Amino acid sequence: MSNELKSIHDFDFTMICNYFKLLERQGPGSPEVTQKAVSFINELSDEARIADIGCGTGGQTMALANYTKGQITGIDLFPDFIEIFNRNATELHCEDRVKGIVGSMDNLPFQAEELDLIWSEGAIYNIGFERGMNEWNRFLKKGGFIAVTEASWFTPERPAEIEDFWMANYPEIDTIPNKIAQMEKAGYTLTAHFILPENCWIEHFYAPQFPAQEAFLKEYSGNAAAADLIAGQRYEESLYYKYKEYYGYVFYIGQKR
Ligand code: SAM
Repeated sequence: MSNELKSIHDFDFTMICNYFKLLERQGPGSPEVTQKAVSFINELSDEARIADIGCGTGGQTMALANYTKGQITGIDLFPDFIEIFNRNATELHCEDRVKGIVGSMDNLPFQAEELDLIWSEGAIYNIGFERGMNEWNRFLKKGGFIAVTEASWFTPERPAEIEDFWMANYPEIDTIPNKIAQMEKAGYTLTAHFILPENCWIEHFYAPQFPAQEAFLKEYSGNAAAADLIAGQRYEESLYYKYKEYYGYVFYIGQKR
């Protein structure tokens, strides 16, 4: 990659970050759903070690901290997200047990069998569900839990428009039975799975983007790449309303065998 291309790439990342850091959460979800997912795992002790992988600014991590004991490490690729994450932890007075660090999910800084719980909402797609399930397994203690949300098809067939969109953006999207089979093959016993309710998308993800988009477009006024980014977000949102009976996020919760 030439230097020129690299700098355009870096600029895009900075811009995408600047948009998503305006939001409390960077993906669909809600505190209620985080709590529901926690209800399926065994109670943890104060000494438990938890990782929230692809934590973003920590919207779901702070909810997770409310419903669990133990030490939580949030890990995300983007330093700006981690800075906000650690500020949020301090404001909520949980900085002694909730810490954000910069790192990548394909090179996690944990020891083998160190973790009691791996959490990841709306982020495992960055490495791919199957790869993440396989590679992260070694960091969990035997009997430890994994809980992730992942885009999944709800029906065996879909209209071409939505099929094409996902094939272009995340071809690993698959049906729920196929995701469960991949998880079991990677060494987990399925504990529970459930579809995230629509309010996780509509109220908690898309509604807060409306004022954020206005502010962002003002800040980047006249910038074509910024306008494209927002147009892309709006298109994605319109597809959700049109095709939400065919796909959504599913929480998959499993226990390492
Ligand atoms: N978990 C958060 C939530 O639900 O609000 C964030 C979800 S957001 C859709 C995906 C997150 O994955 C972003 O914060 C992004 O920075 C992070 N990410 C992308 N690639 C990553 C990587 N290789 N390692 C760690 N985090 C990554």
